[in-house]
Amino acid sequence: MIDLRSDTVTRPTAAMREAMFSAPVGDDVYGEDPTVNRLEARVAEVLGKEAAIYVPSGCMANQIAVRLHCAPGEEILAERTSHVLLWEGGAPAALSGVTVRPLDGTHGILSLDSLRDALPPDDIHSPQTRLIWLENTHNRGGGTVHPFDAVHAIGQWAEGVGVPMHLDGARLWNAVTATGIPAAAWARPFATVSVCFSKGLGAPVGSALAGTTAQIALARRYRKLFGGAMRQVGFLAAACLYALDRHVARLADDHANARLLADAVSVTPGLTLDPPEVHTNVVWFCVDPNLGTPKSLAAKFKGQGILVAALGHDMVRLVTHLDVSRADCEVVARAIRAIAPAN
Ligand SMILES: *Cc1c(COP(=O)(O)O)cnc(C)c1O
Repeated sequence: MIDLRSDTVTRPTAAMREAMFSAPVGDDVYGEDPTVNRLEARVAEVLGKEAAIYVPSGCMANQIAVRLHCAPGEEILAERTSHVLLWEGGAPAALSGVTVRPLDGTHGILSLDSLRDALPPDDIHSPQTRLIWLENTHNRGGGTVHPFDAVHAIGQWAEGVGVPMHLDGARLWNAVTATGIPAAAWARPFATVSVCFSKGLGAPVGSALAGTTAQIALARRYRKLFGGAMRQVGFLAAACLYALDRHVARLADDHANARLLADAVSVTPGLTLDPPEVHTNVVWFCVDPNLGTPKSLAAKFKGQGILVAALGHDMVRLVTHLDVSRADCEVVARAIRAIAPAN
């Protein structure tokens, strides 16, 4: 099967398994797992922050950030189709008593104007905005890279109005590879940053949250509270360290493969790329009802050994990753073009 449903479906490579097998470990709840400690130091350094904490999932990294920045009744401003709004089970409300106010963006990208307009007055009627939330790259937006200068302009404004920012950087590595701009430069305007190792980097488990030493000390309490403090977890952290060393630069291959798929979609009548430009490893497209539903299309592809994600009533998503090769993507591109041959 050529599995393009998500970049989370990868399996550890033989070399990654070797690194996991031989990792020195200890009880991380005591702070005694040398491999976890090494990963946390490494992540803090890469992101240019004082400290970082290893957590089981991207959702947990994000939800610890929510709890760090906000008290019950306070709010976060985020783009309408952000992961935190669509795909984290309502966790800000459930775990922290926090609302997330959805703002309109363009392919997941929020403008400074929309944020400026949304900031509530200092009034007892209004929930107080304690956090501005950006996602880069933006998953539902289409793997879009938030333009660097725009992120920094928002950061400057946010600093002026005294509202900290959090970056959901589950796929920040893709933005780094697509632009050549280092992770620390991307992270600079943000108080806290979450990153995932289990997406494009191909590690089996884990994410991290970076911030100040004081924030990360508090994050250790919340990680325990949320059930995410683990023991000899260096076996997993070793995979993340391996992925940071070996699997970031190769994301460029995933981006080239996604463009190949996008080109096939764009020449196929009845399929419409949305967004029309593919920046990284995520390809979303609309299916004209004449060609069937996303579900029927997904079933047809499955019969040809190709797995895609049918999402919503008219959308299909393809995500490239290190377990699909150029040759695999050429097979898929041919299958896409065969749906409705251009004449
Ligand atoms: C996948 C994802 C997450 C959550 O990660 P999990 O490890 O699946 O909990 C958060 N944000 C974005 C943008 C994601 O794509």
